[in-house]
Amino acid sequence: MSNDYILECSIDPRKGKLSVKGIITIPAPPRNALFILNRGLRWTKTVRRTAMGNIALEVYKTDDVEVPKFYNGDLWVFQIDEPDLDEIVIEVEYSGQIHPPSKESRMPVMGYIKKDFVELACYCAWYPVPFNMETHLFFDVVLKGPEDWTWKANGTCKKLRETDDSNIWKLKQDSLVNDITLVGLPERNAHLDSESLFWGPKDMIGSQKILDNDARKMLELLEEWLGPRGTENPVKFVITPRTQGGAYARSGHIVVGGGYATDIKLRPQVLQAMCHEICHDWFCKASVKNFDNWVDESLAEYCSIIVTDDYLKEDFLDWRVSLTKEKLEKQGHVPSIRNLTRDQDESYAAYYFRGFLLLNEISEKVGRNLFRDIIGEFARLSVKSDTVTSEMFLEFIEKKSGKKIYDVANLWLDFEGTGIP
Ligand SMILES: [Zn+2]
Repeated sequence: MSNDYILECSIDPRKGKLSVKGIITIPAPPRNALFILNRGLRWTKTVRRTAMGNIALEVYKTDDVEVPKFYNGDLWVFQIDEPDLDEIVIEVEYSGQIHPPSKESRMPVMGYIKKDFVELACYCAWYPVPFNMETHLFFDVVLKGPEDWTWKANGTCKKLRETDDSNIWKLKQDSLVNDITLVGLPERNAHLDSESLFWGPKDMIGSQKILDNDARKMLELLEEWLGPRGTENPVKFVITPRTQGGAYARSGHIVVGGGYATDIKLRPQVLQAMCHEICHDWFCKASVKNFDNWVDESLAEYCSIIVTDDYLKEDFLDWRVSLTKEKLEKQGHVPSIRNLTRDQDESYAAYYFRGFLLLNEISEKVGRNLFRDIIGEFARLSVKSDTVTSEMFLEFIEKKSGKKIYDVANLWLDFEGTGIP
């Protein structure tokens, strides 16, 4: 399933305003198409392009289905009455401001248009986000922004031309991705150095550059182990002034709120956290709608910890295993991995902590070196696959190792309670 987005956006950071004209091509849905859009944005046009010309498209808001908590937006139903078509072409226009999540949702502010920085991704539903999260997309965006701003997206991002009071940029992604992310800031405030892994406000990047060398070497180690990354975009850590919500990775484009700690004492953990995000260039195919997402998160955690152990040679793995056990114990009762989805708070402890410990347990059973080779092979398979499931992953290990690992894996995946089984 893939959607194709052709958007013309105009962003006015001084007024905090966004307006978009777009054409979205989607595979014909069984009945209706569902999209999430930020509460502060208003539809001004919704039509369907057909062979007979444009016809008005009925859209309405619904509460019938719950939107996963990490999306800050309302769910809209686009009524499609003729299901016997291959694809549907929708024309939309909408505009307004990006509203933060409501206070009672206790969700972090992940998207905003401010006068000195813009950060937009699916979390704030700045474009009509397909409700079916298995849907991947291509995009082609023409962006009109202030004349002195510079931008970065999870695809190619180039200045097309200048006008008197604005700059036109073109953002494009030809391979399937799961988001359209966009960050921008006034060029005079931007750290622009193609040699550096970092991109963002000068005053924040200055301190981050100390991490460049180590992170670059670790990226090489990961590529040696896991094979080519699933994207041709170079790895960039985009540092944003956001103070809540952590990091997200989108095909080489890693957006980090607030940047990384630079205290030397914290260096091993920081490098591991950076590698975790890089690892999502291989591990990003499991659904976030069900528990399969544990595969991506625990693999990103496991591989980043192993590579940190290789690079620093300070028994990082053993230290992390005991630290993770402690942290998981401290969490108290945590539901089983199989009973959690990504939008539930406890999924973090389950997927990152218990999931990592499970992979470590399997690696002990299989043998660390063989397990490492198997993960390397699985990474190569993952970048070529459309989706990855728990079943696929476990079967792969069992087949390649010749060891029975299902019983252990199921025991762990079904375990609910404190710590590990
Ligand atoms: Zn992750």
